[in-house]
Amino acid sequence: MKHIETIAIHGSMKAHDKPNDTVVPGIEVSTIYEHRNGSYQEGDDKYIRLSNPNRQQLENVIAELEHGSHCAVFASGMAAISSVFQTIEPGSHVMVAKDVYFGTRKLMWEFGEKWGLEVEFVDMTDLDAVEGSLKDNTNFVWLETPSNPRLLITDVKAVSKLVKSKGAVVAVDNTWPTPYNMRPLELGADISVHSTTKYLGGHSDILGGAVITNDTTLFEKVRLIQRVQGAVPSPRDAWLLSRSIRSFPYRMRAHNENARKVAEFLSNHSKVKDVFYPGLESHKGHEIAKSQMDDFGGMISFLIDGGAKNAVEIVGRSKLIIAATSLGGIESIWEHRKSSEGPDSPSPENLIRLSVGLEHPDDIIADIEQALA
Ligand SMILES: *Cc1c(COP(=O)(O)O)cnc(C)c1O
Repeated sequence: MKHIETIAIHGSMKAHDKPNDTVVPGIEVSTIYEHRNGSYQEGDDKYIRLSNPNRQQLENVIAELEHGSHCAVFASGMAAISSVFQTIEPGSHVMVAKDVYFGTRKLMWEFGEKWGLEVEFVDMTDLDAVEGSLKDNTNFVWLETPSNPRLLITDVKAVSKLVKSKGAVVAVDNTWPTPYNMRPLELGADISVHSTTKYLGGHSDILGGAVITNDTTLFEKVRLIQRVQGAVPSPRDAWLLSRSIRSFPYRMRAHNENARKVAEFLSNHSKVKDVFYPGLESHKGHEIAKSQMDDFGGMISFLIDGGAKNAVEIVGRSKLIIAATSLGGIESIWEHRKSSEGPDSPSPENLIRLSVGLEHPDDIIADIEQALA
């Protein structure tokens, strides 16, 4: 198997099958294809919603990055997540991690019952809780590790082993770790899902999602939903995301390195009560994180000594770090998470979530230092 840096570049470039060809692929904008001999021929390209070369290339490279055999890309992370939940048979008991991405929780609140799903939010970091929640009709498990916003660590191997013995499908939202730091399919999960809007895009300028699996039957269901419901990315977005992926492993390397330095700084600061970063030895899930991740990612959250008002003031005082929602871009951003998620949010009042960017770590740290002062 080639290394991830090599896959990221060559999997997203042009195949060199013609002499003197362009090296970089073009953007194929045509929505339609000409029929051969007057009528549509089976196997030919037909219509952009069904197939497009830029989308195909993007799917190929993301599958390879995740060590998976199939990938379907979507117009957003939520479209990708929705497609996975729509593969579940009505009447199924579905276990979703408690500390899950807010949009996934909202999707279940709004549509779980309508889709005939018996949804239960379970603390996946506690294997006894997972085992205790299993039912005869538990067909599906959704988890995220590190979780949002508290970076709780779930043992993907152990949960997969436990619930797959009952025949349930396991899906992991791999947006935060990214395939540079973790590959869920290798840990026993059936499905890996991404908001490519985050680290794979990496520049805060593309919305997208992806579903990766080695299970052909599952994949056919996702592919059908993608083609019939039509939440596909445009050729330009697919092309731009392929472009971003070429530098993704090196960006990720620097996100990991900067976040480690910032987490260490925060954990020694008197105005910070607690730091959630799985790379810190003091983190509850550090040992499990170390066993399933190659590195610990670019996301940190921390509790300040104070309340919501103080947290908002600190975020507002930054001069370099941008106050904004989202993550995974080259620029550092942070937010008072509870204000972003709204009153239903389980996020602690004094929690600040930081997406560590690729500025020099000393500059990021200096900005946090003056904001906390
Ligand atoms: C952003 C995000 C999503 C949703 O993706 P969109 O591209 O915004 O639709 C899902 N899961 C996680 C972990 C995310 O951070």
